[in-house]
Amino acid sequence: MAFTLPSLPYALNALEPHIDARTMEIHHGKHHNAYVTNLNAAVQGTEWENKSLEEIMANISKLSAAVRNNGGGHWNHSFFWQIMGPNAGGAPTGAVAEAINSTFGSYDKFKEEFSKAGVTRFGSGWAWLTAAGGKLTISSTANQDNPLMDIAEVKGTPILGVDVWEHAYYLNYQNRRPDYLAAFYNVINWDEVNKRLAAAK
Ligand code: MN
Repeated sequence: MAFTLPSLPYALNALEPHIDARTMEIHHGKHHNAYVTNLNAAVQGTEWENKSLEEIMANISKLSAAVRNNGGGHWNHSFFWQIMGPNAGGAPTGAVAEAINSTFGSYDKFKEEFSKAGVTRFGSGWAWLTAAGGKLTISSTANQDNPLMDIAEVKGTPILGVDVWEHAYYLNYQNRRPDYLAAFYNVINWDEVNKRLAAAK
């Protein structure tokens, strides 16, 4: 098969108490796995079968809803697991700290705007911090869309993102999306965010 489910880079309970093991188990093992299975089915026998996920994202306007939803779902979740981690969180470090301070004024101000993007995304979607042309932008997308897609309003390299689908938080936080977003800052892997910022165009 062209696409495979990546292993989690840490244990299911590694992000507790902020994100619980049962949520991680279902989110990775069921939801992410389904995006991979459905993406493979959607590209099977087409010219996209052996293309990279990034190439698929850049051409998403030409592709089916199944590829958009499941390809986006596969990319977004693979990214999400990487930019979180145990013994993480707290204030950003390195180049991303400087970029956040110069763009938003302070880390607290950034958190306010990033959380607002997540809270105000109606229904299911993602909030993003994207780098493009040396600038950082906060945005949100519906469903499994992302800033790599050619249809995105804000395009660029995602360096941080948070899943605000109910499946990402409902077991532990029920309807309290703002509480889940507040907890998310405790699990951000800033080393990984810095790597993605360094690689951004
Ligand atoms: Mn999800």
